[in-house]
Amino acid sequence: MNQNKILFERSQKVIPGGVNSPVRAFKSVGGTPIFFKKGLGSRLWDEEGREYIDYINSWGPMILGHAHPEVLKAVQSASFDSLSFGAPTARELEMAEVLVKLVPSIEQVRLVSSGTEATMSAIRVARGFTKRDTLVKFEGCYHGHADALLVKAGSGLLTFGEPSSAGVPADVAKHTLTLPYNDEEALNALFKEKGDTLAAVIIEPVVGNMNLIIPHMSFLKMLRELCTKHGAVLIFDEVMTGFRVALGGAQSLYGVIPDLTTLGKVIGGGLPVGAFGGRRDIMQCLAPIGPVYQAGTLSGNPAAVAAGLATLKLVQAPHFYEELTAKTKLLVEGLMKAAHTFNIKFSAQSVGGMFGLYFSEKAPSSFDEIMKSNREAFNQFFHHMLTSGFYFGPSAFEAGFVSHAHSDEDIRRTVAAAQAFFQVLK
Ligand SMILES: *Cc1c(COP(=O)(O)O)cnc(C)c1O
Repeated sequence: MNQNKILFERSQKVIPGGVNSPVRAFKSVGGTPIFFKKGLGSRLWDEEGREYIDYINSWGPMILGHAHPEVLKAVQSASFDSLSFGAPTARELEMAEVLVKLVPSIEQVRLVSSGTEATMSAIRVARGFTKRDTLVKFEGCYHGHADALLVKAGSGLLTFGEPSSAGVPADVAKHTLTLPYNDEEALNALFKEKGDTLAAVIIEPVVGNMNLIIPHMSFLKMLRELCTKHGAVLIFDEVMTGFRVALGGAQSLYGVIPDLTTLGKVIGGGLPVGAFGGRRDIMQCLAPIGPVYQAGTLSGNPAAVAAGLATLKLVQAPHFYEELTAKTKLLVEGLMKAAHTFNIKFSAQSVGGMFGLYFSEKAPSSFDEIMKSNREAFNQFFHHMLTSGFYFGPSAFEAGFVSHAHSDEDIRRTVAAAQAFFQVLK
């Protein structure tokens, strides 16, 4: 019997749903999840020894490809000096200095161990700073699994068609208001009514958790102006987009500057690192100097920070993001051309090293639009590609990722496999 099936059956006995994070279960696309054994560059090998070209890249972190020798060397070297101290280290200081240098809106930063912790802590400090409770988020955006953020959230929550999670008290959820993405009218109306009571607005400046959605410039600018006018803290959740769409994140691409930024994924290079930072006056509210408590036993962990530092060093190489962007463009343009040859209702777009594929005539710009795409066609596409040795996200509501290790030949082979699918679909 297939090793993936054997392992998945065993897993379901001891792990709820057989997985440690819901989207991994293939519930949206059907079939058995793949258990991976090894990765190198753009390639993965599963427990059956089958090879795949990876378009998930651990949902973003593996921007250099898998098992990059410099990253491994850094982790190995840090490990021999002990895996944790629970006390300050020069390495975490260096990491903070790198983040402050590369993301100019970050004046001070604190390291945590996941994206969830980063957004949860950013919201707490924003509330402490403004002495207000109400939080605004956008439909289909995902900001990790903290209670206050599981309201109309994206990613795995969309897959399961649940607007929010059970186990979140109504008393908590009532402080979170949601708005449609890219909807200037709704944004204006909310600020008009409640602007002066809002603690913070949190947004994915490019959404990667309801497939890929690109912001309208006028919408982002209006959001910045309204937050400034009403004294609400603007939080850019760049856990996915940070060091993925550009060196300075989405804020550097669009020139819209948030008060706080959350980071994760790429900054850990595959190990658990998150960060939140921004305006000094806000960050100074944190304990031990301010009244907002936030902490972590493994925060700034030496091995994790070593992986992050090595990764952040390599992405600063000349032309890194131009090359990554060009590779990703080659993929989306190739797929579009192949689909249109057979008159398939398909579109695709990318920002930096992130891409979105949609079985709809044009790229969607909101949650409502993405819900109208053809999910059945996506599921067939996913399984065709998987069988052909190409590992895409197992859901029509996730963005995809290209790494710097992907070659033009990898991408040509991917497009050729997709073309065979489009031909059959026609
Ligand atoms: C992945 C993600 C998170 C959550 O990060 P975890 O490390 O999974 O907790 C938060 N916000 C965004 C935008 C993300 O993509």
